[in-house]
Amino acid sequence: MDPLFDRDKAEDVLSSVAAAAPDYLAGLDARLVRDVASLPLLDGLDGPLPEDGHGAPDSVAELLRIGTAAATHSSGPRFFHFVVGGSTPAAMAGDWVTSLLDQVGGMWTASAFATTAETVTLRWLRDLFGLPPDWGGVLTPSATFANLTGLACARQWWGEQHGVDVAADGIAGLPRMPVIASGYVHASVRKALQILGYGRDTVQVLASDDAGRADLDGMRAALSSGPAVLVGCAGEVNAGDFDPLSDMADLAEAHGAWLHVDGAFGLFAALSPRTAHLVDGVARADSVAADGHKWLNVPYESGFAFVREPERLGTTFGSWNAPYLAPMDDTSIDYNCLGPESSRRARALPIWASLRAYGRTGHRAMVERHLDLAERLEFLVDQSPDLELLAPAQLCVVCFRYTAPNHDLDALNTALGKAILDDGRVYVGTTVYRGMIALRPAIVNWRTTEADIDLLVKVVRELGAQLALRPPR
Ligand SMILES: *Cc1c(COP(=O)(O)O)cnc(C)c1O
Repeated sequence: MDPLFDRDKAEDVLSSVAAAAPDYLAGLDARLVRDVASLPLLDGLDGPLPEDGHGAPDSVAELLRIGTAAATHSSGPRFFHFVVGGSTPAAMAGDWVTSLLDQVGGMWTASAFATTAETVTLRWLRDLFGLPPDWGGVLTPSATFANLTGLACARQWWGEQHGVDVAADGIAGLPRMPVIASGYVHASVRKALQILGYGRDTVQVLASDDAGRADLDGMRAALSSGPAVLVGCAGEVNAGDFDPLSDMADLAEAHGAWLHVDGAFGLFAALSPRTAHLVDGVARADSVAADGHKWLNVPYESGFAFVREPERLGTTFGSWNAPYLAPMDDTSIDYNCLGPESSRRARALPIWASLRAYGRTGHRAMVERHLDLAERLEFLVDQSPDLELLAPAQLCVVCFRYTAPNHDLDALNTALGKAILDDGRVYVGTTVYRGMIALRPAIVNWRTTEADIDLLVKVVRELGAQLALRPPR
C-alpha cells in the first residue's frame, strides 16, 4: 500500500496514540515494572515482511497493543536499575511535537526553528548548571556521545600540541594520547576512546582505594611527563560519588592538561545548594558531558556536551568540504558541524519545553525530592538488620546488599537481583562494588515518591528472606 493512500489517516492514527496515553500513564503507578507474563506478546512483533502492508491504523493499533503491555515500564516510578529517568508531561509532549514537525535539526538553512531552539536550550542549560555563558555546546543523543564529543575536542587539542590537525590528517604518526582517570571512569568514556582510535584500555586508572577514589598524587606524577587528558567523573554509577573536580582542575591548570568531566547525571548536583559543592570546579573544565534522558526527565535520546572554547567544536567536527553548506554566523548555526551527528532530529524541543514549563525552581525541586528519597532509603537500609549499607548516599544512588548469617553473600545477592527483576514490582539489578555483589538503586524519576521507596525496601527484604531460607548450595 503506497503511503499516499494513508494520507487522510494521519488524524486517526495520531489520535489513537493520544487516546492510549492517559490510560498508559495513569497505570504506570500501579503496574509491574516488567510483567514477565506479557513477554509472549513479543511474538506479535514477528512474522515475514508484509507484502502489501496492513495500513497505518491496524499497524499502530498492533504496536500499541503489544507495547503498552510488553514494554518495560521504565518511565514509571519504580525503575531503579542503572540510571534511568522518566519523561515529564512537558518533555514528552515536546517530543511528540518533534515528531510532528520532523525538522532537519542540524542546519539553520533547513530549520531556523530547530537551530534557534537548540541555541536557546544550550544557553538555558549552561545557566542551570552554572557553566560560563561563553562556552560552546551541542546537543547529543546521549552522554556517551557527549563524552565522545568532549574527548574528540581533546584529541584535536592533543594533535595541535604536536603540530597536527587531527580533523584533516588523523592520528596516524602521533604518539598515543595519554588519558588519566580515577577508578570511577565510566564505560562510555572507554567506548568513546575506542571509537576515537586510542582503544578503551588507553585509560590509565589511578585510584587510591578499592572503590576507585582518585589518587591525586599519582595523577600529579603522571601529568608531569607532558600534555595529557584528565577525565573527571561527576557522579559515578555504583554509589554516586564524585571525583575531586577542583583538585583535578588545579592539576590540569598546573600541568597544561585537558580536563574532561563526565557528569551524565551528577552534573545535576549543581541544581541544589545541598549538593552543589560536589561539582565545585566543573566550570574550570575544558569539556563537560551530561545526559538529558536521566535526571532531566526528558525522553530518550537526549544528551549535551559543553566545551570551554566554542571554536573547538567547529574545528573538530566541521568543514567537511561540502559545498552545499552555508557559512555559519552567530545566528545561522549548523549544529551538524559542531558534533558527531549530521542529520538529526530537533533534539532541543523536549528540553526547551521542560525548562520552560518547570523552570529553575521546578527542576531543583525534583532533584531535591530525589535527594530526600535517597536519604530515606539510606535510613531504611540502616534500620533494617538484614540490609547493609555499603557506601554513604551522596546524591541519588544508594549502594547496599542483603545479608543473612552463614550465606555466601555474593551468591545470595546475585540470586536476589535476578529475583527482583522477575518479580517486577520494583526494578533494580546488581553491580560489583569494592568486590562485593551489591544493589544500587538510582532515584531520578520525577514520579517516584516515598511509597515507591518503601515498596523497594519491602520487596528486597521479602525476596531476600525467601532466598535465605533455601538451604545454601
Ligand atoms: C549513564 C552514564 C553514561 C552514559 O550515558 P548514556 O546516556 O547511556 O550514553 C556516562 N557516564 C556516566 C557517569 C553515566 O552514569
